[in-house]
Amino acid sequence: MPTTSNHPETLALHGGSFRKDASTNAVAVPIYQTTSYEFNSTEHAGNLFALKELGNIYTRIMNPTNAVLEERLAAIEGGAAALAVSSGQAASAISIQNVAQAGDNIVCSTDIYGGTWNLFNNTLRTQGIDVRFADPSDPDNFRKLTDDKTRAYYAETLPNPKLSVFPIEEVAKIGRPLGIPLIIDNTAAPLSCKPFDYGAAIVMHSMTKWIGGHGTSIGGIIIDGGNFDWTALPERQPFYNQPDASYHGAVWGDIVPQIFGVQIAFAIRARVVMLRDLGSAIAPQNSFNLIQGLETLPLRVKQHNANAEIIANFLKDHKQIAKINYPKFAEGKSKQNAKKYLGDNNGAMIGIELKKGVEGGKAFIDALKLHYHVANIGDARSLAIHPASTTHSQLSEEEQLKAGVTPGYVRLCVGLEHTDDIIEDLKLGLEAASKV
Ligand code: PLP
Repeated sequence: MPTTSNHPETLALHGGSFRKDASTNAVAVPIYQTTSYEFNSTEHAGNLFALKELGNIYTRIMNPTNAVLEERLAAIEGGAAALAVSSGQAASAISIQNVAQAGDNIVCSTDIYGGTWNLFNNTLRTQGIDVRFADPSDPDNFRKLTDDKTRAYYAETLPNPKLSVFPIEEVAKIGRPLGIPLIIDNTAAPLSCKPFDYGAAIVMHSMTKWIGGHGTSIGGIIIDGGNFDWTALPERQPFYNQPDASYHGAVWGDIVPQIFGVQIAFAIRARVVMLRDLGSAIAPQNSFNLIQGLETLPLRVKQHNANAEIIANFLKDHKQIAKINYPKFAEGKSKQNAKKYLGDNNGAMIGIELKKGVEGGKAFIDALKLHYHVANIGDARSLAIHPASTTHSQLSEEEQLKAGVTPGYVRLCVGLEHTDDIIEDLKLGLEAASKV
């Protein structure tokens, strides 16, 4: 019996239909390490393939361990269905390829993760999907870049390095009357922001980060809000209104609500077409690891946020720091967006611009002893990185600056250690930076 609670603390443990393993009564979610599921008869097999009956076929497309993770995350985000995939990158790629084909375009915020930027600006372009980048400081920039081939808007709730919160509701409102869904990467603001409350149609996460929380497993999730009418303007969304030759002529926008009673055509197509064809399935062991993380996500997010606020206050007026990026310290419209979308939860990331530029940034990182120097965020441990020489190094200098990466910029991702110890370590870095 699924819980009726709306509290994330309860949903993280009980969300979705899993209570115990049906055959053993095991309480922990079993790892269903199987590729295949036996069909009861040829009729049963035929029905599963024709979506006349729902059930397991092959682990590339579905798996019971993965299903627990999918249902819990859909419940936590307030969505209607979800699809777990092998990485956050796969989630981003599939969420675009699930609406756009060669000749189409999407409009994407300029403030996105470097890996997503590369995927959109290079790989998707080579596949004929044009990605137009809009400065989100004025939501109307999304409208200006829209034409009749625009299939989706895409953005991150809390993009680093700028840490300037995206105007979700304002952009969703531009897209909806035009039949354009807003896809939000909510990786950096799990629980702190619920994008479906503001009109997003699809939410995705790199589960590798806070959801897993312990730096053990790569995974991505795509969550369908079940709140978008893919058939309202048929010309706008061909994948959902024209017969799909790869699936005996299915018209996804029509048949999915008939079968499931809710409009989750995006999630269903992502699973039975995109995952079937592209194959970026998540391993059940990784889903199990991510479920362990998910169980404590609400507790961890609170502590990450509380620790980051203490660290941000320590760094704010430090003499080695030229600038600090932290949602609570934003100004003007960015401040309003931080308050509106994050409330008092400002996330775990802090950006600092060291006065001594690139050499200061490097000396800072090299002096840290407690912080891990890694290309990751959302770990229980405190992390630090110098983006210009690592995560954003494949971007040109101009592109780096557009993304907010200046030479002396260091990104901190505050962990769950005692804040006294985090501060002591940061002092080592600041001391070293002062000496270059
Ligand atoms: N989205 C954001 C905001 C990220 O930070 C990352 C990775 O850093 C990704 C997507 C890609 O996720 P993954 O590393 O799980 O492929």
